[in-house]
Amino acid sequence: MCTCAGGEKSRMNLHVCMLKENDCYKAGRTIVPKGVMVHSTGANNPNLRRYVGPDDGLLGESSSRNWNQSGVGACVHAFIGRQKDGTVATYQTLPWTMRGWHSASGPKGSANNTHISFEICEDDLSDETYFRAVYQEAVELTAYLCQRYGLDPKADGVVICHQEGHQRGIASNHADVLHWFPMYGKSMDDFRADVAQAMEEETVTQEQFNKMMEVYLKSRTKLATSDWAKEPLRQAVERGFTDGTSPQGFATRQEVAAMLNAALK
Ligand SMILES: [Zn+2]
Repeated sequence: MCTCAGGEKSRMNLHVCMLKENDCYKAGRTIVPKGVMVHSTGANNPNLRRYVGPDDGLLGESSSRNWNQSGVGACVHAFIGRQKDGTVATYQTLPWTMRGWHSASGPKGSANNTHISFEICEDDLSDETYFRAVYQEAVELTAYLCQRYGLDPKADGVVICHQEGHQRGIASNHADVLHWFPMYGKSMDDFRADVAQAMEEETVTQEQFNKMMEVYLKSRTKLATSDWAKEPLRQAVERGFTDGTSPQGFATRQEVAAMLNAALK
């Protein structure tokens, strides 16, 4: 059964549909995530149902070649692509700390042992709107994973694509995603910077919050008196227990005490 992971702290459209029939899932090995590897499928089919199933009512009926079955020989932690109504979404397909089968290996080992992985479903690579949507979804997913596992997206070897993994000797010789991202002006350095920025946007320090609160409180003091309150406020001013300023500002306890004293005189 697929479920929507609605409570997760993120702006991405995240759903969960574990590929429990995949041999990788059944192998059940685990990793301590050290990074995130970005893949794209290399096939013209942007529909999630090609890979993910069963249908949760949003995916559409899954392809007979979907990855939720034995014999696929590969598995990733998530897919980004289209639901049946065209909406771009992310589907988590393995527990994040399960060992995926996504990179194969190179002379220096395998990213399967270190990296969380996701596939972006490719279309025919000619649709810029689709690219922008899945790119943004990928940025948010990677930011979420880096935050969750305490990873620095700009540190060496942490956020890499399959081709970069090959260059580093930890993945098979595939081109993804550098046959696609640069068509729309995005390098992997851009991707890492966008992930870092997305993480900053999500983290508000206490100091920043206090500043925002001050701005908010100040903005309240500039609001005009509501129509319904004009007469009672006029009377309160006339009776001397408020000066009538900041009619929509919040009152502190000391101000309330002073107003009550004035009113009870
Ligand atoms: Zn790949």
